[in-house]
Amino acid sequence: MNKIKLQRDIPELASVDVCVIGGGPAGTAAAVAVRRCGRSVILMERTAQLGGMATTGSVAIWMSVGTVTGFYKEICQDLELSDFLGRDWTTIPMFVPLFNPFRLRHYLNRKLEDAGATVHFHMEFVAAMKEGGTLTHVVVMTREGLRAVRARQFIDCTGNASVAIDAGVPTRSGRDEDGATQPMTLMFMMQDTGRTITPFLPKGCPGYDRVEDLPQGRRLYWEDKATGTLLVNMTRVRGNGAKIEDASRCERESLAQVFGVVHFLQRNGFPTYVLAHVAAQTGIRETNQIVGRFTLSQEDLAVARRFPDVATQNNYEIDIHNPTGKGGCDERKVGLYDIPLRCLVPMSGTDNLLVAGRCLSASHVAMSSVRVMPVCFGMGQAAGVAAALAVEHGVGHVGDIDISVFHGRLRKQGVEFYGL
Ligand SMILES: Cc1cc2nc3c(=O)[nH]c(=O)nc-3n(C[C@H](O)[C@H](O)[C@H](O)COP(=O)(O)OP(=O)(O)OC[C@H]3O[C@@H](n4cnc5c(N)ncnc54)[C@H](O)[C@@H]3O)c2cc1C
Repeated sequence: MNKIKLQRDIPELASVDVCVIGGGPAGTAAAVAVRRCGRSVILMERTAQLGGMATTGSVAIWMSVGTVTGFYKEICQDLELSDFLGRDWTTIPMFVPLFNPFRLRHYLNRKLEDAGATVHFHMEFVAAMKEGGTLTHVVVMTREGLRAVRARQFIDCTGNASVAIDAGVPTRSGRDEDGATQPMTLMFMMQDTGRTITPFLPKGCPGYDRVEDLPQGRRLYWEDKATGTLLVNMTRVRGNGAKIEDASRCERESLAQVFGVVHFLQRNGFPTYVLAHVAAQTGIRETNQIVGRFTLSQEDLAVARRFPDVATQNNYEIDIHNPTGKGGCDERKVGLYDIPLRCLVPMSGTDNLLVAGRCLSASHVAMSSVRVMPVCFGMGQAAGVAAALAVEHGVGHVGDIDISVFHGRLRKQGVEFYGL
């Protein structure tokens, strides 16, 4: 590949204690946690929405993770969320709340504002600037061109480890044997109109007549009878969403599948429903994992391992959508296990960068369990506290903060750990 050199003078937009890149579940929780430690924070998000997959991806359901605590609990309480049976968050082991993604988007805007976090939309990470092993700035593309943001600590919540990779942190991707990642899914919603609809399949869209012909070979949706809405997770496209070609192809293929699945559902159980909303982008389950000070493994989940530097906890099952795109999912129950802070700390490359969210240091199998959103909120909150403490105590490496102070500060923010 030919290379060109880019040399530019870039205006410094801001200088803060902590810079968070990516405003999904991990990034929003991280930014609020930093502010609650009394430190300045800027959160940069490339879309127009906070919430990541929960809003931009319309994944409007949170899986049960064995605990409802900290920032995640606040959201469930504030939005008065309940599960299919109308139960609230106190039914902890079973709690699988459905939520309205548009309302969540508005809620997060207010929540970040109330916390005093500076949030910039339409800002996409471009490059990491380092002096020695220390990140000094990130360069971002904005509506006004390139800008630089200086910070003392950085948290990569892009899901793809984009900042970490550019900063020289080693990463790995997908299955050990071939690097294949879980497939992608474009979520959509249907709405009951109360009258029979004539099914229509636009040209160029696949038609499905039998369940086994469907992209996932199964029906997967959640019906909210009170509002007549159907949240559908039934498309499936192979590929790695962090690759240029795969990302573009999947947006075309998955949208064509949406129309095919709608056509199928209208003829099989939902004759009065219309397509009401398609997510702004295809949902990405798995791309890059950093190589951290510790890599969470399948065995850690199998034995429900505890760690002295626990950052958050989880018992969501191992849930691997087949990377080859065929068949169902590899689903295996696990007990409540810890995710240690070391999984968020790069093994090498920088001394003032953490990651939070699905790009943590974990094996292909382990990340399939960790990736769900309540856990990402938990990781984000922990990373925010850790970064703020590193600033407060002036530690040389963010991974070397005092763990008892870290746990004390998380508790002050309403985080409870089982068995600690
Ligand atoms: C189809 C699908 C179904 C799922 N089902 C469930 C479910 O039922 N329940 C559940 O709890 N979880 C589910 N998950 C998992 C969960 O949604 C994700 O793993 C989780 O959202 C990851 O959180 P995150 O904060 O790490 O990343 P994301 O949610 O991906 O957020 C990352 C954010 O960073 C931004 N960003 C990325 N790159 C840049 C950049 N360069 N510059 C600036 N901003 C950037 C993105 O726009 C985004 O807002 C599902 C995922 C998918 C894809």
